[in-house]
Amino acid sequence: MSVNAEHNEQRFQGAGVSPGVARGVIHVIRDDMDDVARYRIEPGHVQHEISRFESALIQTRMQILELQQRIAESIGAKDAAIFDAHLLVVEDRTLIDEVLRKLQSDLCNVEWVFNEVASKYSETLSKIDDPYLRERAGDIEDVTRRVIRNLQGKAPQILSEAEPHILIAHNLTPSDTATMVKQHVLGFATDLGSRTSHTAIMARSMEIPAVVGLHDITEKLESGQQVLIDGTNGLVIVDPTPETLAKYEEIEAWRRKVATQLKELRETKSTTRDGHHIVLSANIELPDDVDTVVANGAEGIGLYRTEFLYLNRNTLPNEEEQYEVYRKVADRVAPDPMIIRTFDLGGDKLAPNTVDIVDEMNPFLGWRAIRFGLDNIDIFKTQLRAILRASVAGNVKIMFPMISGLDELRKTMSILHECKEELRKSDQEFNESTEVGAMIEIPSAAICAERLAEDVDFFSIGTNDLIQYAIAVDRVNEKIAHLYEPTHPAVLRLLKMVADAAHKNNIWVGVCGEMAGDISLIPLLIGLGMDELSVGATRVPRVKRAVQTLDVPSCRQLVDDAMNLHTPQEILQRSLQLANERYGDLLG
Ligand code: PEP
Ligand code: MG
Repeated sequence: MSVNAEHNEQRFQGAGVSPGVARGVIHVIRDDMDDVARYRIEPGHVQHEISRFESALIQTRMQILELQQRIAESIGAKDAAIFDAHLLVVEDRTLIDEVLRKLQSDLCNVEWVFNEVASKYSETLSKIDDPYLRERAGDIEDVTRRVIRNLQGKAPQILSEAEPHILIAHNLTPSDTATMVKQHVLGFATDLGSRTSHTAIMARSMEIPAVVGLHDITEKLESGQQVLIDGTNGLVIVDPTPETLAKYEEIEAWRRKVATQLKELRETKSTTRDGHHIVLSANIELPDDVDTVVANGAEGIGLYRTEFLYLNRNTLPNEEEQYEVYRKVADRVAPDPMIIRTFDLGGDKLAPNTVDIVDEMNPFLGWRAIRFGLDNIDIFKTQLRAILRASVAGNVKIMFPMISGLDELRKTMSILHECKEELRKSDQEFNESTEVGAMIEIPSAAICAERLAEDVDFFSIGTNDLIQYAIAVDRVNEKIAHLYEPTHPAVLRLLKMVADAAHKNNIWVGVCGEMAGDISLIPLLIGLGMDELSVGATRVPRVKRAVQTLDVPSCRQLVDDAMNLHTPQEILQRSLQLANERYGDLLG
């Protein structure tokens, strides 16, 4: 942290994960359930504690209803349904009666009594071997936090305050971020997190400036302070001085100018200056993101992260619902392709109310993506049938995440064939020649890519995971974020192996990890022979400009040189050198 003594401006440095500047009043969310004080009360004060408790329950109920309504309006009724379970907790007679009994017997303040009773309930439920009851434990904890904050007279700990604000939180899960109501959250900053976490990816696609990995910012700031967030440089500036504000106004004016110039590229092709076309598509998380894809001039969707359909709800999406969603998106982007990735649940994307993946020691090495799908055939087949049926509406392709080797790929393919057979039997239409691809995001798949390429129509490299698994650096751990090196010589070799294996088998290969949207690395990716780049929709214009200024021979030469370099920094510098020569203005 640094302090400008004259004006008491405080600066906190973290990792900027979603560019742009946001200014406003902050709302701090801490995990402060441990601070529930205990004090004795006189028998004559029991009635007063009961009244406080009743008011807090009413207030909590109103807050939940209000939040539910806002989410229903902005995101949809299904996402809002998650709060039905929270409302049930506030009305739970057994829980409330036990609090009243304990108040009489223990003669302690009601927040302490309520916390004791609710914690005992959720602890008991969380130990029962039943996913539904375990999830009720989570609901109880959430509601307990709200009720106690209301009893303590603190601002409610909800993700969407009524007024536009900047959110400061210890951590935000991808599902928290998905329910963030964009109009109200101007920007956010968190203690934890890193650039390739799904929370950061979501922030970029929602265009919310964000800084993560600030370690203990929630301890240092208080709700109500004025803050400026610089999501490009990873800065949180408290009480910015007039000079700082003036400087940021200039930066924003420059950003707006570049954005306007880039908009003009919308109708142009992402073709290198020597005439080599690189397919430039966009990644989406939510169906509504498709508007930004079209607005930014992407050539379709290179990665649709369908797992977000499963988050923040109480029931799994059925075949009909999924079919409708996929059909609409496919129709909107047709004739351009839409690559639907089957759900990648697990890791940092948990759907605790519907999918029973909990408490793993190493979630990113655990029951995730295709592994979970192959063990939950019904859920998996439901999705595959929905995707196949939607294939009639547009140019739909299917892609499987976290394939580690041939066995897994074969099992997956045979399930896909079963689904096709089921659809044929029930006379349901689908495109028989729907293309199927594998994500290459596990080193074992990259190393065996030559064989895998024989069984699929395309590869899409998930560099976010490939890098974390190749270097053994947890992609969401801010303490080791500096070790997460996309230009590590080992990563470069893996990428080259995959691209060469694809081309040897005459299939195309793309990159859909965040590396594809990093304009300092585009020369490397083109030099490696990538046929497609799929990036966050808002990155499309920049990447397009970068591609248009490059030529294949210079990029190939760059890769030849880079293969002889030994450190990530040397490789990055070499790529940056070419990027700077061709489109230095974009890198500034
Ligand atoms: C990746 O791993 O690079 C990828 C695109 O998938 P996700 O970020 O959803 O894991
Ligand atoms: Mg991945």
